[in-house]
Amino acid sequence: MKIGIVGLGLIGGSLGLDFRTLGHEVWGVARRATTCEAAIACGAVDVASTELQSLRSVDVVFLCTPIHMIAAIAADLIPHLTPTTVLTDVGSVKGAIVDALSPLWPNFVGGHPMAGKSAVGIAVAEPQLFAHRAYVITPTDQTSPAAVALLTDLAHSLHAHVFTCSPAEHDRAVAWISHLPVMVSGSLIQACLREPEAAVRQLAQQFASSGFRDTSRVGGGHPELGVMMARYNRDEVLRSLQGYQQALQHITTLIEQEDWAAIAEVLATNHAARPEFIRSTPAPDIAAS
Ligand code: NAP
Repeated sequence: MKIGIVGLGLIGGSLGLDFRTLGHEVWGVARRATTCEAAIACGAVDVASTELQSLRSVDVVFLCTPIHMIAAIAADLIPHLTPTTVLTDVGSVKGAIVDALSPLWPNFVGGHPMAGKSAVGIAVAEPQLFAHRAYVITPTDQTSPAAVALLTDLAHSLHAHVFTCSPAEHDRAVAWISHLPVMVSGSLIQACLREPEAAVRQLAQQFASSGFRDTSRVGGGHPELGVMMARYNRDEVLRSLQGYQQALQHITTLIEQEDWAAIAEVLATNHAARPEFIRSTPAPDIAAS
């Protein structure tokens, strides 16, 4: 198959490495010529260009640019595509992208490979990034079944676990496990910074160890990522923050009331529930709706 990838960073580059290993011909498009050269040098693409029209004869295109560029790039790309080309994206938020792209191209289907790392760029692209990780496909009632089938097959070929759900279900679920943690973890750092006594703040910094490292990691990451989550998944992020505030208020009240038994019950529930959220391998392919 002839596969086009627009955006040759961590995700686009990693897809290219795997697709080439699987025997596909990969045509890449990047913004900068230096990225094109790096993608060819590391084996992520067969051919690379800064021109979208170079993808006029590919069978499928993966849009792998930052979220805020996806809709504009799709609009520029579409006039160059042949009618049978399947278009998909890898953006971490689905509702806004699916709403924008579905009316533009009948063979569009949204997707989100849920794999990544904190570093970005072609230099950190790696083979097998998506193996044994969730690949969420978010068709609507109007989505072409052939496009869904093609993306499902390609995701399976990466050894990813394919989940199918609506864009809205995707955005609500990732708000809980990805976007809310960034806001909560960031707020933890903010709260610590607001300790009024400088000497205590300094002691806290000196005492901080693995617990603080774990709980502050996602909140202390790249600012652009958190802004993207808040901006493009605003309603679900706000909804999850409200749920979090209720949970926080509940535990605050229990502590004020010195209801140690009730606190133990809450913590026991958490202890039992956590493994369900952090299985290293997702459950086998599931259609959530
Ligand atoms: P990245 O490593 O920064 O790569 C983005 C790439 O897009 C860069 O190569 C950049 O080119 C290119 N680009 C930017 N504007 C462009 C344009 N106008 N035309 C062509 N190429 C352009 O980012 P990433 O982590 O791969 O993320 C890409 C997408 O994957 C995002 O939509 C994100 O939501 C999604 N995603 C990310 C992760 C993750 O953990 N990182 C996980 C799942 C999904 P230059 O190199 O020339 O600047």
